[in-house]
Amino acid sequence: MSDAKTTRVLILGGGFAGVYAALEFEKLLRRDDNIEVMLVNKDNFFLFTPMLHEVAASDLDITHIVNPIRKLLRRVKFFHGDVEQIDLRARRIVVSHSEEHHHHELEYDHLILAMGSVTNFFGLPGLEQRARTMKSLGDAIELRNHLIELLEAADFECALGERNHLLTVVVAGGGFAGVETIAGINDFLREALEFYPHLSDANIRVVLVHPGELILPELGEPLGRYAQEKLAARNVEILTSARVTGFSDEGVTLKDGRTIRTRTLIWTAGTSPNPLLANLPCRSEKGRLTVDSHMRVTDWPGVWSLGDCALVPDPKTGKPFPPTAQHAIRQARTVARNILATIRGGALKPFQFATLGQLAAIGRRTGVANIFGFNFSGFIAWWLWRTIYLSKLPRFEKKFRVALDWTLDLLFSKDLVQFHTGRTAALSHAQEQLNPSTQTAHPMAEPASPLPGQRRELSATGAV
Ligand SMILES: Cc1cc2nc3c(=O)[nH]c(=O)nc-3n(C[C@H](O)[C@H](O)[C@H](O)COP(=O)(O)OP(=O)(O)OC[C@H]3O[C@@H](n4cnc5c(N)ncnc54)[C@H](O)[C@@H]3O)c2cc1C
Repeated sequence: MSDAKTTRVLILGGGFAGVYAALEFEKLLRRDDNIEVMLVNKDNFFLFTPMLHEVAASDLDITHIVNPIRKLLRRVKFFHGDVEQIDLRARRIVVSHSEEHHHHELEYDHLILAMGSVTNFFGLPGLEQRARTMKSLGDAIELRNHLIELLEAADFECALGERNHLLTVVVAGGGFAGVETIAGINDFLREALEFYPHLSDANIRVVLVHPGELILPELGEPLGRYAQEKLAARNVEILTSARVTGFSDEGVTLKDGRTIRTRTLIWTAGTSPNPLLANLPCRSEKGRLTVDSHMRVTDWPGVWSLGDCALVPDPKTGKPFPPTAQHAIRQARTVARNILATIRGGALKPFQFATLGQLAAIGRRTGVANIFGFNFSGFIAWWLWRTIYLSKLPRFEKKFRVALDWTLDLLFSKDLVQFHTGRTAALSHAQEQLNPSTQTAHPMAEPASPLPGQRRELSATGAV
């Protein structure tokens, strides 16, 4: 462990804020520095959220938008685990890890709270239990699997009267995540029809529910209207000034009393800061920690916060910066420099940044973008979206893989393979139930012949 002279910096959260702070420490720490930096994250990878909808819509391979944290960091240590308790008074964090979830205590001199946000269902009935979310890699893979499952189920004759109900997908929230998700899903479902002979365009209903009058309000009226018209022309139903009030067996209910019969609701209409932060004895507003413009948590020397879980004030306006990746990345660089200035005795700098622009991909090689105050739409905006985000995706290997996926996309149709992670043991169990004689067989014995009408499962290598 560290000696008495070592200063320990602990970063909680490996999203944009945490990982970019760690990368900045990698750059700034000198060999002779007696500073130990450790990053804790519950996934062993860094997720590039702006491309998440492309995984759900089968445009990109599932691992191409994530980077293993160990390949990003050399000097900074990494702990793959869950933060369970934060004790600011004792300067101690309790983390759990491994399959049996045993615990460790980590101590710090400087703590960076960068644990982002979680989905907020606002207590609406049925949502927490049934609605899908779009925040993690798991969410995107699950959604992709679910869409393929719906297509497979709807195509068979037993679903004759149920097809339209099965193939109705509702997305709640007309912000970036909601619009990009619905555009991707709409393209995916309609392009897949070619392989499902009993399904047609008329069976698919894709509905976007948005509380405002125009979608993508952050991009202003002309781009919001453009996106709305483009999506509507591609048969996306957009319900503006509408709110979801619940989700049950009957479907999704709206505030005006309408019910949309569906099994699929994707909720992108609310986030709240990480609940672990709610128990901290720190000042916060709507769960986001109050920090000064240097990102020091009010009243807690040595504790810093940034990204989606903090309210970092803009020194020019006094208002907090928006919770976006581009802000989290820049805040991360400033916080790392400010911590080093505190340790080494230097001047701290306030965080200052003017939003460069915002972009959204809205499907079929079209997009909308506002960059340095200029509006772009259509193919050029889509091209800008791809070029800018590809350049931001960390590591050449992943950039190359994504660029390759996009190139192959020009030649081949979208993949329809479901990605299951369950063990094949379920099959042996079913076989044992049907054929008890195999229950006592020696583990090395030849497997029993398949039962009539039962197929043998092929392993990944094709061997029986
Ligand atoms: C679908 C989607 C699309 C987006 N598109 C864009 C975009 O195009 N442009 C843009 O600027 N922004 C975009 N955003 C917003 C952007 O992703 C966030 O603003 C950004 O991720 C905030 O960074 P963060 O580090 O504060 O939080 P996060 O990136 O959420 O990171 C928090 C990290 O903390 C970890 N963590 C949480 N709890 C624990 C725990 N108990 N123990 C251990 N680890 C924990 C999480 O696993 C995660 O890795 C998008 C967001 C989503 C969901």
